[in-house]
Amino acid sequence: MAAKRAITVASGDGIGPEIMDATLAILDAAGAQLEIERIDIGEKVYEQGHTSGIANESWDSLRRTKVFLKAPITTPQGGGFKSLNVTIRKTLGLYSNVRPCISYHPYVATKHPVMDIVIIRENEEDLYAGIEHQQTDEVTQCLKIITRPGCEKIARFAFEYARAYGRKKVTCFTKDNIMKLTDGLFHKVFDEVAAEYPDIQNEHWIVDIGAAKLADTPEAFDMILMPNLYGDILSDVAAQITGSVGLGGSANIGQEYAMFEAIHGSAPRRAGQNMANPSGLLLGAVQMMVYIGQPEVAEKVHNAWLKTLEDGIHTYDLFKEGTSVEKVGTKEFAQAIIQRLGSKPQKLKEVVYNKENRKQIQGRFNPTVPAKKDLVGVDIFLHWNGVNRNPNDLGKILSGVKSGSFELVLITNRGVKVFPDGQPETFCTDHWRCRFTSKKMDQPGSYEHVLALLNQVHALGLDIIKTENLNRFDGKLAFSLGQGQ
Ligand code: NAD
Repeated sequence: MAAKRAITVASGDGIGPEIMDATLAILDAAGAQLEIERIDIGEKVYEQGHTSGIANESWDSLRRTKVFLKAPITTPQGGGFKSLNVTIRKTLGLYSNVRPCISYHPYVATKHPVMDIVIIRENEEDLYAGIEHQQTDEVTQCLKIITRPGCEKIARFAFEYARAYGRKKVTCFTKDNIMKLTDGLFHKVFDEVAAEYPDIQNEHWIVDIGAAKLADTPEAFDMILMPNLYGDILSDVAAQITGSVGLGGSANIGQEYAMFEAIHGSAPRRAGQNMANPSGLLLGAVQMMVYIGQPEVAEKVHNAWLKTLEDGIHTYDLFKEGTSVEKVGTKEFAQAIIQRLGSKPQKLKEVVYNKENRKQIQGRFNPTVPAKKDLVGVDIFLHWNGVNRNPNDLGKILSGVKSGSFELVLITNRGVKVFPDGQPETFCTDHWRCRFTSKKMDQPGSYEHVLALLNQVHALGLDIIKTENLNRFDGKLAFSLGQGQ
């Protein structure tokens, strides 16, 4: 028998306590060797003044056990509250989100009877870095951060997962035809890492057509790897089209810590009525049992759950006259699974967790070799509201601003060139990007030149809202050109 493993458990809000009780009862009956430490998270904790929904002492338990089984919480409405999930993922470095999305046809109604996809979502970066600013009266921005170590970790994690679970193909979705540097890096690193795994097929789709294909023909995919935002949206789509978002479990894995949960929220309208389907949390817990090295328990629970679905014992969300046999509550559903522990599904595919799955999959990354970096200019962003917002007026005002070889070469508004030779039709906001480089962008300068430019612009009474340095890395321009440049 496995040694007892300490885990931290939070029952959350809404239907959380009911589905957690059901899940723990099933794990216990299946022989899980767990030592449970309980913490409070969610609504009550937010109300006590903890802006992230978790109290300081709860972190001690997480640091001790390193494994967190978490029920959904209700996020309070209104400003001032931070997302508990994002806080936990980032604080504990849970860089990968794993969501198996599987159809259970004909026992769960779905338009996609053949669907068995694992979605791997990068969990820490992208637009979720939470770095947002209002810069002018009219303009807000959110920084999209994509790092090489972040891409390497998640891409290796995806291919290691494919090997461990016998998956054949990893598909990457990005929008690198538009975001050439950020999504471009994600795609490039995917290709580099894919080359280390010749036994696994790989392919890349632009996310828009990829998403359409996923919604229409999910059987074309085996595993899909995505940056954070696309992964957040499309993993919900994928879970929903299997038949119910209530069936999806999710694992958040980092180098040292891991958190397991259901995909769905706290469904407050169903709370306290013994109605909720505990399957999402249970399948999250199944992933946890594999992770902590008790795969035989995971296998027993997962197969008993499949047999229960197959026997037509369904909670209200899955119940359908004709296919279902009995409509049951949360507790009765858990009891039905417990009664079937040790049996296997007859029609649905039996689950086997082999030795390979037991090893903890990790996404290594190589240290980045610093490149030779030359400064070839600067973008100075201005909040400017001149008469009629005429770009030629702003160009004229800035025409004398020079330092070293850096001078004004371009002004854009929302990324579109408006000076010199802009088109009169282009709509202009109060937010201007003014690019200073040498005429051909080929002569490096120093930061002193940038400071001199800033002093001159400031002396003209203009409102500088930010700057971005323009660099070459190993001789290659490392910034996007303005549309029309
Ligand atoms: P939800 O997932 O709670 O509910 C969506 C719909 O699905 C509802 O009709 C609900 O009744 C149904 N549903 C969800 N889970 C079910 C289950 N296990 N069994 C049966 N039916 C189920 O989403 P929502 O209503 O948008 O959000 C409710 C609250 O949950 C919000 O406060 C939201 O912020 C929070 N939330 C939390 C998490 C989390 O903690 N991980 C995730 C998503 C939403």
